[in-house]
Amino acid sequence: MLKNILFSIIITSVVSTTGGLLCNYLLEYNTIKCIVTLFVLQLLVFYIWNSISQSLLLVRIEQEQTKQAEYFSQQGVEASCAYCKSINFVPVRMDQNNEFQCDACGKPNSIYIDITVAQKAQLIDKEQLSVSSYMKDKIDATERIQQGQ
Ligand SMILES: [Zn+2]
Repeated sequence: MLKNILFSIIITSVVSTTGGLLCNYLLEYNTIKCIVTLFVLQLLVFYIWNSISQSLLLVRIEQEQTKQAEYFSQQGVEASCAYCKSINFVPVRMDQNNEFQCDACGKPNSIYIDITVAQKAQLIDKEQLSVSSYMKDKIDATERIQQGQ
């Protein structure tokens, strides 16, 4: 960082000194005045250039984030946290590990994707695998235990 700043100052000085000497040789103006003017002009131009490129970069980052959010919204699932069971909307990608931090409790969760292949005309009985049927079975079992069966 400091090296870069020093390098920039040296380059700016060399350019303004060369320009100042040329200015004196060609137009017979005061060399020091020319050097100082060129130095300040370069600083000003670089400041404006940096400001513009930084704001362009910010705009580009914002566009990229918006695009990414749109992409995620197309491929996301509502997953319940493994710790507190609160629902989180999580982007799912096939090319990387899917992990998320719970919005409610902040604990890390991993998502494992179960892919089922079936014939096109075949009806699959997904009900047995779903969380709601699991909960129903659990409630039924609890009631049976309470009734002493
Ligand atoms: Zn949680």
